[in-house]
Amino acid sequence: MFVAHRIRLDPNNVQATYFARAAGTARFVYNWALSEWRKQYEVCKVDPMLPRPSEAALRRLLNSIKREQFPWMLAVTKNAPQMAIMQLGRAFENFFAGRARYPRFRRKGRDDRFTLTNDQFQVEGRRIRIPKLGWVRMRETLRFVGRIVSASVARVANYWYASITVETSDPPTSSAENQGTVGVDLGVKALVTLSTGETFEGPKALRFLLIRLRRLSRGLSRKVKGSRNRDKAKLKLARLHTRIANIRRDSLHQLSTSITRRFHTIGIEDLNVKGMLGNRHLARAIADMGFFELRRQLEYKAVWRGGQVVLADRWFPSSKLCSTCGYRLGELGLDVRQWTCPSCGVSHDRDVNAATNLRNMAVSSTASACGGEGAGPARERRVKPAPVKQESN
Ligand SMILES: [Zn+2]
Repeated sequence: MFVAHRIRLDPNNVQATYFARAAGTARFVYNWALSEWRKQYEVCKVDPMLPRPSEAALRRLLNSIKREQFPWMLAVTKNAPQMAIMQLGRAFENFFAGRARYPRFRRKGRDDRFTLTNDQFQVEGRRIRIPKLGWVRMRETLRFVGRIVSASVARVANYWYASITVETSDPPTSSAENQGTVGVDLGVKALVTLSTGETFEGPKALRFLLIRLRRLSRGLSRKVKGSRNRDKAKLKLARLHTRIANIRRDSLHQLSTSITRRFHTIGIEDLNVKGMLGNRHLARAIADMGFFELRRQLEYKAVWRGGQVVLADRWFPSSKLCSTCGYRLGELGLDVRQWTCPSCGVSHDRDVNAATNLRNMAVSSTASACGGEGAGPARERRVKPAPVKQESN
């Protein structure tokens, strides 16, 4: 399975200049190859005997002319131009397969990146070795163990990051720790409530930063277009966005690691997120808390540890069922946090009860999948094997 870890780099001035130059080379070559591709395509339309454009042919063409025509390319890693053309090849493949739009030209500021293959760089603790440059400091150590596949160095909001892709070995056999089943209720009040009664709030720092974000973006709209102050404010805003995204991602990683480490089977709602995003207040909360991202992480980390994620049917009434007796409430307002079951008299915390129902659902669907008796009040359910996905940022 392929996973990627994006790590902030701490380049000195010389290194940052090199990054900018390598990214500039990659962008130039990508755009050069794209316009060559178009030209060759036009020509071979007229004369079908001529070969159709291909990334391999374009790479050969570039190699034969770069010393004379683009000698400045030699100052940076040869991976920068090579990989750019290969990426264009992939972009066309995706286009022809109907998976993507026609490749666009790369733009400065938006597409500042270059890619290295694993024979061209080295990672050691908190540093990465880049060809024709040397060691660059990283802010973290690589999170994953396995065969390193590639690294993409990119500028985001004026900071440089290396996104390192790793092929991890087969999922470790489940440890003694990861045996039980848990229900995970995604909420607005607490980010997550577990059937064990534990709750996880979103990171506190986030709320504070979001207030600042709102203030900054309002300030930006008042600045004169094209002014220096506006540029400064824009950069500040972009940095804040990145910081918020990083904090959010880190906290979700901590949470998903902890849940998949402790539990083998995880029952979770199949949120109709599209429907929920229609609701403007909820939308904000959902987007902020990254439900999608959390579910995605739970799914791949569960597979990794030999566990599984069980999705409840979208119509599974996790909040309205009594987890003790199975009684189903007719209505339950969104703001009702506590309720008492009219049938068995047990009083419920809304979120813990929902999480418990999800846990029961997960238990019964895995039990019935093994031929056992269904347990708990779950009716509609489906087991979704956790897909193997690449973690991209
Ligand atoms: Zn009850």
